[in-house]
Amino acid sequence: MYMPSNRGFITDGLRRSIGDTMGKEYWIGDVTAGSHDAKEVVLKGWVHRARGSNKIWFIVVRDSTGHVQCVAKRDVVGEECFESLRNALIESSVEITGVVEPTDREHGHEVQVSSATVVGPVNPDRPFPITESAMEDSDGGETEFLLDNRHLYLRTSRMTTMLKIRSTVFGAIHSYFRDRDFTEYQAPNFVAGAVEGGSTLFEVPYFGKKAYLTQSWQLYAEAAMPALERLYTMAPSFRAEKSRTRRHLTEFWHAEMEVAWASNDEVMEHGEGVVRHVASTLLEEMSEELEEMGRDLSMVARFAESEYPRMRYDEAIEILQSKGVEVEWGQDLDYSKEKILTSDFEVPHFLTHYPRVAKPFYHRPDPEDPKYVLCHDLLAPEGYGEIIGGGERTWSEEEILERIDEEGTPRDPYEFYIDIRRYGGVPHGGFGLGVDRLCTWLSGAEHIREAIPFPRDSRRVTP
Ligand code: ATP
Ligand code: MG
Repeated sequence: MYMPSNRGFITDGLRRSIGDTMGKEYWIGDVTAGSHDAKEVVLKGWVHRARGSNKIWFIVVRDSTGHVQCVAKRDVVGEECFESLRNALIESSVEITGVVEPTDREHGHEVQVSSATVVGPVNPDRPFPITESAMEDSDGGETEFLLDNRHLYLRTSRMTTMLKIRSTVFGAIHSYFRDRDFTEYQAPNFVAGAVEGGSTLFEVPYFGKKAYLTQSWQLYAEAAMPALERLYTMAPSFRAEKSRTRRHLTEFWHAEMEVAWASNDEVMEHGEGVVRHVASTLLEEMSEELEEMGRDLSMVARFAESEYPRMRYDEAIEILQSKGVEVEWGQDLDYSKEKILTSDFEVPHFLTHYPRVAKPFYHRPDPEDPKYVLCHDLLAPEGYGEIIGGGERTWSEEEILERIDEEGTPRDPYEFYIDIRRYGGVPHGGFGLGVDRLCTWLSGAEHIREAIPFPRDSRRVTP
């Protein structure tokens, strides 16, 4: 929700710290909230829409905080100013001076223009390509045309709203971990080995050798676990996902955490904690934006307030088989299966205890039954599926060597990882949360591409 007092406070605070160098003083959100009634303001923004006659011109101006209609009359603003406004095409940038008046019309307020200038015009030979009809056909930004024009699509209301929701999600994840004394820690993005298996590794030439883009922060986070004990990050991860699904990107934002001495249950508590904290922060700060996205707020409230049930992998397989899905014990669950499993869930569910054969070497075998590993995936309801993958790590030297060898993974690139066990290994665990997936689900969007400014997939690295 746009909070004028809050924004006003920020503006005042900024002015105190940077003096009169601020390039902009008035915000449309403050105008429509009634903070400047009957006063003169200078609005700086972009032409959203315009119409009118020879004598009077109505321009809806937008800035990052909202929209407001400005009314320019030829006999008030003068010939030259009137004509320049009349020629200002959609997305021209403008500076408009005028007095704020409350009205019964849309936005509740209007600005009676006294003078105006066009700051950055739009050439009539190349009008702004994203028209209302292109938007109507768009299905949430999905057409190739809108993806090709993504740099311009960012200015549309839907995308602006999503970017604000996304920023709030990032902020809430940081505050969840920082409030619990986690240290933010950065791992390298160029690495020598895989975390999630070779098939999705991006190989990059590296001065006559080969390196890879990291798939996860985890292995390097484990190295700092004996130093920091509770650590987290938010950083991009890279995976060469060949198939294009509604939830896979090749570059995605990964919130990851690692805790020393922690069990699978403790790590799950944090997974549930951070997701519920994000949902409740969105309700507090972004309820209008969520509604603009078409999200039912009572659903988000349920995700913030409910406890997330836990279910073993074996039970999930039984449910799927009872629904006639062909799935064998030992398979990892892909999106098609998670979709069926979660379509009648009302809240996120943890799936725990996957078969050892389905998971990479770093997952710790369950001492009570080493056919399974002590891991979890958090599956979002409504058919969204996995948003978190985590668990306990294999932590003794003997066990990690056994797991690496049984997988047929070469030991060499993982010597540093084995060392973490050689020098005072301790039980520990952590998870990875897909931030773009979290934004997609919580805002009720259809496709992960809607939740990131410049989506990357196997077919697209432009614009
Ligand atoms: P999936 O089965 O959907 O490919 P995964 O098991 O490979 O997921 P993990 O390796 O557990 O995923 O990664 C942790 C989290 O990172 C996932 O729960 C998901 O939220 C996110 N994630 C993984 N791969 C992608 C991707 N290609 N695009 C966006 N988010 C991803
Ligand atoms: Mg995957």
